[in-house]
Amino acid sequence: MSKKSPDKDAPMRFEHDPKGPIAEFFAPVAGYGVTISSFFRPTVTEQYPREPARVQPRFHGRHRLNRYADGLEKCIGCELCAWACPADAILVEAASNTPEAQYSPGERFGNVYQINYLRCIFCGMCIEACPTRALTMSNDFELAVYDRASDIYEKQDLLAPLAEGMLAPPHPMVEGLSDGDYYRGEVTAPTREQIAWVKERRPEDASLASAESAAKEVRR
Ligand code: SF4
Ligand code: SF4
Repeated sequence: MSKKSPDKDAPMRFEHDPKGPIAEFFAPVAGYGVTISSFFRPTVTEQYPREPARVQPRFHGRHRLNRYADGLEKCIGCELCAWACPADAILVEAASNTPEAQYSPGERFGNVYQINYLRCIFCGMCIEACPTRALTMSNDFELAVYDRASDIYEKQDLLAPLAEGMLAPPHPMVEGLSDGDYYRGEVTAPTREQIAWVKERRPEDASLASAESAAKEVRR
């Protein structure tokens, strides 16, 4: 508690309560209390970059363009992410899927996809705007580079790699399913027909073996 000066004529001011003799004695070293108590706490110093830094699961890092379970791309080139971006950091150019080159379910796919990380403020508005959950943000924050051009990420830098069991596009959609069915999660692996289509046109495709075993799993 503070008290007022007893002199009524003196200008009003506040003073600290006087310390007792013990507090006075320890006052010069009291400031060390925080330091000394810290000796016994766990060390929190991050050893980055020698050890990977830990971030929270919802940390907004580098973007990723996702795929469906059969390998088709989720991006349909609608440009909503680009329109939602307050920093004008995204460029999308769509193209039409054709029977011989189907990259995503539906009519169109993202042919050109760029994110300029010199502009991006990692606000996440783009991922909120994406209607197919094609665009999400990963926990990767290691984006420092030595030249500005390398901070413009192209589609191949952002596209998720093929996971185990996926079939590399282009290939047709699962027979009898619509793009809405894809969105509802009804595709869980490539089908025999999709695999046969790719085998006929690209027999050397590296994703065929893993897609065949995933298709067998689903049929079992
Ligand atoms: S995170 Fe924000 S600033 Fe970055 S690309 Fe998405 S909308 Fe634009
Ligand atoms: S990432 Fe999503 S919002 Fe952006 S163009 Fe592709 S589908 Fe549309």
